[in-house]
Amino acid sequence: MSTQKLIAGNWKMNGLAADLVVARELAEALAREPAAARVALCPAATLIAQMNWQLKDSAVEIGGQDCSPETSGAYTGDVSAAMLKDAGAGLVILGHSERRAGHGETDADVAAKVEAALPAGLEPIICVGETLAERQAGRAVEVVAGQVMASLPESLNGKAFAVAYEPVWAIGTGLTPTLEQIEEVHAAVRAAMVARLGEGARTAPILYGGSVKPNNAAEILAVPEVGGALVGGASLNAADFLGIIRAA
Ligand code: PEP
Repeated sequence: MSTQKLIAGNWKMNGLAADLVVARELAEALAREPAAARVALCPAATLIAQMNWQLKDSAVEIGGQDCSPETSGAYTGDVSAAMLKDAGAGLVILGHSERRAGHGETDADVAAKVEAALPAGLEPIICVGETLAERQAGRAVEVVAGQVMASLPESLNGKAFAVAYEPVWAIGTGLTPTLEQIEEVHAAVRAAMVARLGEGARTAPILYGGSVKPNNAAEILAVPEVGGALVGGASLNAADFLGIIRAA
């Protein structure tokens, strides 16, 4: 497994042009002192082109938060993978739990989006994670492994991608699983990735996401098979996000 971790910030539906100052602060800090990790910001689609222009030549990569499974046509309101790429994105978050729960996205929908992202040259970050009810029923590993098997199309073979384990109950709540629980699920995610895609899937990073903050990042990032972090709230503030990046 590559030792360089990926720390990706998900701005969700937050941020106007004025908030790009956060991205500039981050880029400036990383220019002064380069990070050991790969760093990415995933703003709303409306900000990608401006962020790309403002961060030109910086170490900060840019990602989208979703893309259409379709390439073009009569899909009002949707954004294609090629459009994200054209605006300056190199990555795209797919199957975030807020899209699975709020927009009814199934594993098959997520796999179709991955199939659209790859030919556009985007590196997908595919999210999986159990609900609190599923964790309490002792089904976390089974649910997450099932999502990996059904959300990762075979076309990922040989391509750059990441999986993000994000327990739904840990997102935006300040709650996190124990380090042992993270280790257990990440091992199961890796096993499912290899079962689905073969030995080549050993190198793709598995990110942890869910209330990662500067004060818990180091211990989470040190867990076996944790290849980085997907960060929501703490990525909206340059100092907090840098605190996480410096822990990697
Ligand atoms: C997320 O939205 O992917 C996330 C992990 O959010 P937070 O860090 O705020 O829990």
